[in-house]
Amino acid sequence: MDLRALPSVDRLLMQADALVNDHGRAAVTRMLRAELARIRTDRPDPLPDASAILAAASAGLTGQAQSRLRPVLNLTGTVLHTNLGRALLADAAIDAATDAMRAPAALEFDLETGGRGERDSHLRALLCDLTGAEDATVVNNNAAAVLIVLNTLAMRREAIVSRGELIEIGGAFRMPAIMQQAGCTLREVGTTNRTHARDYQDAITAETGLLMKVHTSNYRIEGFTAEVPAAQLATIAHQAGLPMVNDLGSGTLVDLRRWGLSPEPTVAEAVAEGADVVTFSGDKLLGGPQAGFIVGTRDIIARINKNPLKRALRMDKIRIAATEATLRLYRDPDRLAERLPTLRLLSRPLAEIRAQAERLAPQVAAALGCQVRVVDCASQIGSGALPTDTIPSAGLALSPDPDALAARLRAGAMPIIGRIHDGALVLDLRCLPDDAALMRAVA
Ligand SMILES: *Cc1c(COP(=O)(O)O)cnc(C)c1O
Repeated sequence: MDLRALPSVDRLLMQADALVNDHGRAAVTRMLRAELARIRTDRPDPLPDASAILAAASAGLTGQAQSRLRPVLNLTGTVLHTNLGRALLADAAIDAATDAMRAPAALEFDLETGGRGERDSHLRALLCDLTGAEDATVVNNNAAAVLIVLNTLAMRREAIVSRGELIEIGGAFRMPAIMQQAGCTLREVGTTNRTHARDYQDAITAETGLLMKVHTSNYRIEGFTAEVPAAQLATIAHQAGLPMVNDLGSGTLVDLRRWGLSPEPTVAEAVAEGADVVTFSGDKLLGGPQAGFIVGTRDIIARINKNPLKRALRMDKIRIAATEATLRLYRDPDRLAERLPTLRLLSRPLAEIRAQAERLAPQVAAALGCQVRVVDCASQIGSGALPTDTIPSAGLALSPDPDALAARLRAGAMPIIGRIHDGALVLDLRCLPDDAALMRAVA
């Protein structure tokens, strides 16, 4: 084999007008060099000719041109799927974000005085209105909210938490680790299943910085259990002159029972129970972009805003715009389910989903050439909200060989993500936008 027979990059480029047009000269040149280097290492016999090399480069360039962040159909049954990006935004939020990206915005500019404005002021009034808190601030996500609250209120001091609430959230968010990074010492009290008022009271010393309650959002302790309610914990903290922090995790701004869902603690309730600070996420039940909300007393919010970490954890204008538009939707709860995708998906009627499954089953069977049954499903909220609750749903069970089917559906132009259950690939249709979306994806 004579490697000298290989065409040069320059010669290949002369035949690559179409590729250069699509991908640019620099990318094509890099890909051709890489392709030639690979051939020199692998020494295939016979050596590929110019057109084979160009075809290989073309395939590589097409792969590179595709976004790595591919849109997918979430048919897992988990509505707020962290690995699939959690909440889908409302149209109003998407429009607001787009406007903020296209044009300069009065982000830190006071249009009345012409002087410097405040980045958080856009959200502050809305958050106070919706939660009853005195003041509010926002950071990158709820993990950041917890970090900055602990760091502001309990650096080099102790934070008292029940052993039953030392949660780990997916993605390595562990309460003890966050405490350490925040510079405070975790003081665990009680036992895994039972913590009493006196456990907190006995642990309070001159070293104590705060008392904390953490919503056990992704698990439930059942059986012989006892916890101190938030209102009582606030009283214990205040008697000792200490702040009480309540990390709600998901937290919601409305009573979900109205839409047939189980109740999650609302932020307004947590504020009314006497917490000095409440933290919660923007992209869980609230249905907005990733954000961490901190609401609480004026004094504590002012201290948090002065913490240098605030600058490192601040939100950008795109998400501030989308968050503001999302929060605005909560001013009219009667139309929330219609406008907020998260709530619309969570409250989608079972009969509608089942009818959709019945319609689609024969079409999907014909398109994929496999067996398709309509099955009952149990959707989940996801992202740690109401972990033991499921919502009745319907879907399609595809068989045989669910692993191969799953791989095949993931490989499509619009990957379909389902769940393997009982020897079948189950597609829960709760989050399917419409029939056509599935038929396009299986085509
Ligand atoms: C989800 C969660 C967090 C972390 O929130 P992110 O917005 O994901 O950063 C913190 N605490 C609790 C209790 C949670 O459920």
